[in-house]
Amino acid sequence: QKAQIGVTGLAVMGANLARNFARHGYTVALHNRSVGKTDALLDAHGDEGTFIRTETLQELVDALETPRRILVMVKAGAPVDAVIEQLVPLLEKDDIIIDGGNSYFQDTRRRERELAEQGLDFVGIGVSGGEEGALLGPSIMPGGPRKSYDSLGPLLEDIAAKAEDGTPCCAWIDTDGAGHFVKMVHNGIEYADMQVIGEAHELLRSVAGLEPAEQADVFEQWNRTELASYLIEITAHVLRQVDARTDQPLIDVIVDAAGQKGTGRWTVQEALELGSPVTAIAESVFARALSSAEPEMRLEAQRVLPAGIGGTTEDVVHDPEFVEDVRKALYASKLVSYAQGLDMLTMAGREYGWDLDLATIAGLWREGCIIRAQLLEVIMEAYQGDKQPLNLLFAPEFVTAVEEALPSWRRVVARAVERGIPAPVFATTLNYYDSLRRPRLNAALTQGLRDFFGAHTYRRVDDAEGIYHTLWSGDRSEVVS
Ligand code: NDP
Repeated sequence: QKAQIGVTGLAVMGANLARNFARHGYTVALHNRSVGKTDALLDAHGDEGTFIRTETLQELVDALETPRRILVMVKAGAPVDAVIEQLVPLLEKDDIIIDGGNSYFQDTRRRERELAEQGLDFVGIGVSGGEEGALLGPSIMPGGPRKSYDSLGPLLEDIAAKAEDGTPCCAWIDTDGAGHFVKMVHNGIEYADMQVIGEAHELLRSVAGLEPAEQADVFEQWNRTELASYLIEITAHVLRQVDARTDQPLIDVIVDAAGQKGTGRWTVQEALELGSPVTAIAESVFARALSSAEPEMRLEAQRVLPAGIGGTTEDVVHDPEFVEDVRKALYASKLVSYAQGLDMLTMAGREYGWDLDLATIAGLWREGCIIRAQLLEVIMEAYQGDKQPLNLLFAPEFVTAVEEALPSWRRVVARAVERGIPAPVFATTLNYYDSLRRPRLNAALTQGLRDFFGAHTYRRVDDAEGIYHTLWSGDRSEVVS
């Protein structure tokens, strides 16, 4: 009996995806560079389905029905190229190599191009949901050639998470790196989601005086509102956890230095290339860097930098209204970070020639992935059919939602600033919102200055076509450039 799918790379993600396929009735051929992982998987879970054990890539290839489907789940970067290089001579036309790791989308574009020249299909798929998602149903964002999805799609849709209406959280995104691009932006949004939850947590502590366990109650309540989401749910669990060693809330014994594996940074780097203002994601990546990059600098700053706030403002105010303000601000801020992320997808679609369907993409994130949230159902609806708002914030339901949250949002940002409590995402999303809606931006002065020192020219409000320059070092008359 031949296997319908082969998996090479059996660390946590590969192993769990392999089990997920097997549990759905597929025969799965297993391979790992060091055979120990293959045997460990078979020892622990070999009875979950039909597996074929292989020791070499040749055996893996021989174990598969044609056209072959080989899922590569090795460490992103050079290992993926190394595995592809070893696989290619063993494969035949129309075989599909699938990269389910967190690969950089430009690598995926390159790999698809190179493999297409050899008659092979290369499919980069974004897989979200961590270990548990991989086993129980991840959110899957496949790119690659459309025709490969005919062969691969049904298997992926089988193992994917299912939305409440039964739709699989897996759909073809577009060619080459589109799947990995969407996964990257998903991760960027995840950074922003987590950062703004962290800011809410800090404000609840420092302004409202709520201890972690009390905050856990608050987040549990919030999880029954429009904020309902996996991240809010697990925030309650983390805040409620008590450290066995010290009897302190666990959150108080965790070092406040956030790590990152790079997908948030990629999102921001790519956003800079595209000129896409994903300020919430950027602030979140920088917030992690600030927390961890230079610990000595933070220590020194605590010694030498004054807060510049009066003593009384340090007092906590047990103010339920403030708690509700934070909740509303959190919702508005989250909406803006999704609006920014989705706008980045639109800009990328134009740049790379992808036809990205935002309703479908929001739909894929409803279940299985880390950012799964009730809100995504509403976002999906906002983009369905002919309704294609130019910006998510323009969808009528969100105009109303933000309008309702605005006074709270402004109060929260003001309070954070007054009290010297960093709230970069609460603030930057509000700045983005205000920047979008203001009729005039300070960019006019920027253009004036650029023209002054560098003759970079400007356009006039009363002339749509002309490019102008003022003779700043001459008689300061204006000339058409
Ligand atoms: P790791 O990223 O830790 O990679 C370990 C696997 O890669 C092992 O099977 C290892 O083989 C193999 N490997 C490394 N180098 C080579 C090489 N040169 N040739 C062949 N095989 C090699 O595994 P994870 O399961 O954590 O992640 C897999 C992918 O999924 C990564 O791209 C990751 O970013 C992504 N991902 C991970 C998530 C998570 O929650 N962990 C969530 C979503 C995506 P060996 O055993 O022989 O060392």
